[in-house]
Amino acid sequence: MHPTLVLISNLWQCDASIDRLKAEFDSLIGGLNRATAELAELDKKLEAVKTRAAAYSKEEREKTRESEELQERRKNTQRMIDTGTSPNYAASERQLAQIAGLLDGLDTRLLELMDLQETAAKEKKELEKEREKVAATREQLAAARSVREAPLRAEMTTWLAKKELAAKEFPREWNGHYEELRRKRRPALVNVVDGICSSCQMLVTPQRVVETMMGRAVHVCPGCQGFLLP
Ligand SMILES: [Zn+2]
Repeated sequence: MHPTLVLISNLWQCDASIDRLKAEFDSLIGGLNRATAELAELDKKLEAVKTRAAAYSKEEREKTRESEELQERRKNTQRMIDTGTSPNYAASERQLAQIAGLLDGLDTRLLELMDLQETAAKEKKELEKEREKVAATREQLAAARSVREAPLRAEMTTWLAKKELAAKEFPREWNGHYEELRRKRRPALVNVVDGICSSCQMLVTPQRVVETMMGRAVHVCPGCQGFLLP
């Protein structure tokens, strides 16, 4: 291999390793952050369902009491009519009809409240199940992070030190070209197989291939601009 290409390859190995470590770290942290946010969102939803369920059951108690009072009043009025003790028979009959109407309304609402409570209970159960799942995932990710974080950091420190050295030795005349490849997130080193770049499938002239193979010159692919490997 051409000595210049060796120096280029050294830096590329460092950069590629650092990229890989960063990606692994990001996915560890990213997954954990997503699970944490999802958990907070589920807790908010659960709180809302619980508040709603509490309001329904409070209303149910109130309406039940109201209904019991009305039934009591109905009984009394009916008794007055039956025993002939009502001071105003027509007024008592009107009152009975009015009570019946109110009781109907209350019954309808009580049935609705039962449905609403049932729906809220089902929703709560589903949210709790989902929360349990996300919490387990989050715990796994946190465990994975605590296991991987230290080795990742250690590996990163090693590669950063290697990179510092490789950057110092890097051939200056290729600085701009290399930086451009990095900026475009392209592989800096490419293989040529049967005269074709394995990265971009562009044809490479036989002369470039031969000179690269013999370590006589440093060439780049005419397509992706990657440095050709022998
Ligand atoms: Zn190419």
